[in-house]
Amino acid sequence: MTSNTALPGQPHIAYAGDQLHVEGAALSQLAREHGTPLFVYSKAAMLAALAAYQRGFAGRQAQICYAMKANSSLAILQVFAEAGCGFDIVSGGELARVLAAGGDPAKVIFSGVGKTRAEMKQALQVGIGCFNVESEAELDVLSEVAMGLGKQAPVSLRVNPNVDPKTHPYISTGLKGNKFGIAHEEALRAYRHAASLPGLKVVGIDCHIGSQITDSTPYLDAMDRVLDLVAEVESAGIPIHHIDFGGGLGINYNGDTPPEADALWAQLLTKLDARGYGQRQLMIEPGRSLVGNAGVCLTEVLYLKPGEQKNFCIVDAAMNDLPRPAMYQAFHQIVPVTPRPGDGVVYDVVGPVCESGDWIGHDRQMQVAAGDVLAVLSAGAYCMSMASNYNTRGRAAEILVDGTKAHLIRQRESAFDTFALEQLV
Ligand SMILES: *Cc1c(COP(=O)(O)O)cnc(C)c1O
Repeated sequence: MTSNTALPGQPHIAYAGDQLHVEGAALSQLAREHGTPLFVYSKAAMLAALAAYQRGFAGRQAQICYAMKANSSLAILQVFAEAGCGFDIVSGGELARVLAAGGDPAKVIFSGVGKTRAEMKQALQVGIGCFNVESEAELDVLSEVAMGLGKQAPVSLRVNPNVDPKTHPYISTGLKGNKFGIAHEEALRAYRHAASLPGLKVVGIDCHIGSQITDSTPYLDAMDRVLDLVAEVESAGIPIHHIDFGGGLGINYNGDTPPEADALWAQLLTKLDARGYGQRQLMIEPGRSLVGNAGVCLTEVLYLKPGEQKNFCIVDAAMNDLPRPAMYQAFHQIVPVTPRPGDGVVYDVVGPVCESGDWIGHDRQMQVAAGDVLAVLSAGAYCMSMASNYNTRGRAAEILVDGTKAHLIRQRESAFDTFALEQLV
């Protein structure tokens, strides 16, 4: 490996000499110090991803609300809060995390189809910025809860623009058959209903059409559909203060070529301007695109198991740490932290969990030996936040690198931690 080779699309993750680094931290050293599996994130990569959106919105009234379900670790939230972000949350638990990380509740928007009364109450009491409401039934309950507290809940209606984001069916959310949002045809009626309820104050409109979107067309189509509705609702006498276009922008996992955030928004803002909405308060809810390529998961090779049909490379990370391959047949690149010379052998990289679905990568040509450390790339989003204790595996530790400093931001969970809340009868 030549020296100072950044990985494609990931300038903060690079080989220097024969060692893979995240910023100024050598990953082999972090693995030795903290053990594996270990998540390592680059603060500079997160801020660079955010900066692309900030450039895209320069001169506009825009609030970026990080969709924290992508990675909700407190120090990650702290980085985004300090950079001025609000947060898109989907549970009361996520709201508690925002507050613990020093986030501003007034910049929080609460999405999700199944908010409980208790969650609504909690959010109203701390004064969150907006509820993104997903059904007419939810409007009634929210109004009632707000009146019970002597408050008015700020609401936006999540409309379903019925566009195909051309992504994996499990992460496509803006089509008619999805559980999310209010159908385009029913939106005006829902707005009239919302405006009539005493506990609600209509402030916005939102949509979110899916995730890992790598083409700008679905965004442009969704924007047209949403702006049509804004015009319709406002001509019915209901003013809409902000327009929220959701998240969903994809990242490069395996040669994917999503538009850059600033280029995408240049296109979208041209359309907004042309339709006369360019000076509105805008909101977006990016998740994956802010953190996905800022993180790697380090894992040690435990055993090489040659076979007649397949060779297996058994590593110490598993589907409980990296759930995306098992859940979505997702692809993560896997590279050695300290490459060895040689052409290698083709392996299936698998974890120790007792499920055939426990694989990290299929058919990967690698020159490896037991004891080597591998880096699973693009592991900053929807990995740790989806991690579980299946097989009574404690969740991994996490490191945030800032230049040459490596901060431990989450300790490794012990077996005892995993059953600390249980008791014998
Ligand atoms: C998950 C989600 C997002 C973020 O999606 P990404 O693909 O990670 O950008 C934004 N808004 C809502 C409502 C979501 O459910």
